[in-house]
Amino acid sequence: MKKWQDILKDSITSPAALNEYFNVNITPLDEVIATFPMRINSYYLKLIQKIGDPLWKQAVPDVAELHDSICIEDPLAEENLSPVPNLVHKYPDRVLFLVSNQCAMYCRFCTRKRKVGTGKMVINQESILAGLDYIRHHPQVREVLLSGGDPLLLSDFQIEFILRELRLIPSVKVIRIGTRVPCTLPMRITPELVDILKKYHPLYINTHFNHPAEITPEASAACTLLADAGIPMGCQTVLLKGVNDSPETMRELLLKLLEIRVKPYYLFQTDLTLGTNHFRTPTVTGIKIMRSLIGHISGLAVPTFALDGPGGKGKIPLTPDYILTRGDKLVFENYRGEICTYPESGDGI
Ligand SMILES: *Cc1c(COP(=O)(O)O)cnc(C)c1O
Ligand code: SF4
Repeated sequence: MKKWQDILKDSITSPAALNEYFNVNITPLDEVIATFPMRINSYYLKLIQKIGDPLWKQAVPDVAELHDSICIEDPLAEENLSPVPNLVHKYPDRVLFLVSNQCAMYCRFCTRKRKVGTGKMVINQESILAGLDYIRHHPQVREVLLSGGDPLLLSDFQIEFILRELRLIPSVKVIRIGTRVPCTLPMRITPELVDILKKYHPLYINTHFNHPAEITPEASAACTLLADAGIPMGCQTVLLKGVNDSPETMRELLLKLLEIRVKPYYLFQTDLTLGTNHFRTPTVTGIKIMRSLIGHISGLAVPTFALDGPGGKGKIPLTPDYILTRGDKLVFENYRGEICTYPESGDGI
């Protein structure tokens, strides 16, 4: 089997190279990648069936990225909420720690596309040590989310260094890794890597699949290795126009995730990130999808649909409204649209 490093080296990073596989007009795309980098590794490239399909849309630059007059560069105000570079402390008890500026693919809808894979995201040993130091001096931080870029594009050695240092901080109870490699480069999940990860429990992994066609035998094997090492796996899916914005596609994705032992965690409304407006759907699209899921499929497969509040306001769940009236009786609709009542307890009225 080919090594993950070689698959990554095989990546297409320019529209001209794309032309060897697909017949597209590359001139406007060259302009796009001058601003937003491109990387499609040979594994993910093979999953694309045709121009414009849901996997193509996630991977291949689009001129629409340059014609976005609605969105802004840093919608979550991450830079403002960073006490040290590459560490976002937004919630009281957990921090987001960016430890890598590389990904196995540069997703066109990425929230951090302003900097991921570019020289604007400077991550080095010094910034990692500064982040660790911040966490050491803030004992209210009980959970650290490693993200990036993709933390699992670091070498095994670097990953183990960070995990070991975090585990030496007694106030850090839980480590969470956010990574898209189980989807975009599943060969990265090697037995050697898993042997390292499992030494640092409790360690959670949140991965990121957006379409059922991404759940391949390779992805399934990667998730099996991780789950067998006792790592609870979640998924953060982004709701994307033309990719997964129908109840049927979403249902198939979520049920397939459960089969590979990945628990759907969040379904995100697309952030207001500059260059991604063409992926945004109205919030009602997601709410309707949620209504089509809740009660109809296993509760284990149902994620929380959430919006990340612009300006760093935090994640807000967007839930279909089942409650019709409140009072002595709660009147609500069930998942089938039947009207039901529940008599309130007298306490507290
Ligand atoms: C999303 C996020 C978290 C984690 O939030 P959870 O609801 O615990 O998944 C933490 N910090 C930042 C800055 C985030 O954006
Ligand atoms: S893997 Fe994640 S961080 Fe990397 S480009 Fe894709 S969405 Fe962005």
